[in-house]
Amino acid sequence: MRIDKILSNLGYGSRKEVRSLFKNGAVKVNGLPIRDAGHHADPDKDQITVNGEEIVYREFIYLMMNKPPGVISATEDNRDETVIDLLEAEDLVFEPFPVGRLDKDTVGLLLITNDGQLAHRLLSPKKHVPKTYFALIDSEVTQADVDKFEKGVFLEDGYLTKPGKLTIIESGTPSKIELTISEGKFHQVKRMFESVGKRVLYLKRISMGPIQLDETLELGEYRELSEEEINLLM
Ligand code: URA
Repeated sequence: MRIDKILSNLGYGSRKEVRSLFKNGAVKVNGLPIRDAGHHADPDKDQITVNGEEIVYREFIYLMMNKPPGVISATEDNRDETVIDLLEAEDLVFEPFPVGRLDKDTVGLLLITNDGQLAHRLLSPKKHVPKTYFALIDSEVTQADVDKFEKGVFLEDGYLTKPGKLTIIESGTPSKIELTISEGKFHQVKRMFESVGKRVLYLKRISMGPIQLDETLELGEYRELSEEEINLLM
């Protein structure tokens, strides 16, 4: 890979700033100063230093955000703030994107990465990756609802959902529930409750596949996945 690309991926500044490092002889590969920004190096094999400090290269970034309400799960939006707008510049250099979508008013676990293959694996309908949500429902959720969700329910467009595992935490007005589904149709949780005549008042994703929301993250905060969490996804 071009060494200027390696350094700009690592956040060593704009392309112009990165180029000036070469003019100053600050960049060395295997101990030799490199003056050509287009020089090719292999970050896994070559020792690359900038001002004497060895760089640790990585291609991918894996973040988990506790998505706040009112923010769009997209990389760009003409009107609203996006989850990408909440990232620090040092993370933006990786050009990350959200893995799938949560509604504007939904909160909770959102993975953000630049690893397209991982995103595909997590989102592919063929992989049936389970996603668990906590929700407040406007009225009493009953065992009959649990049984219906277990068989799959018809959405208003005639689509029969795959089985969902509904757990009642507290039945009342409102009810507290958890629901695990293995598909990701548009507004799926809200529409599943509409099909049994109920309304979702609050929706929070608490897990996606093997990754659990880190409840110590405030709304809008994010952190890198740990190595253990990344391994669970591979
Ligand atoms: N289901 C919904 O209805 N909304 C979400 O944001 C996620 C799942």
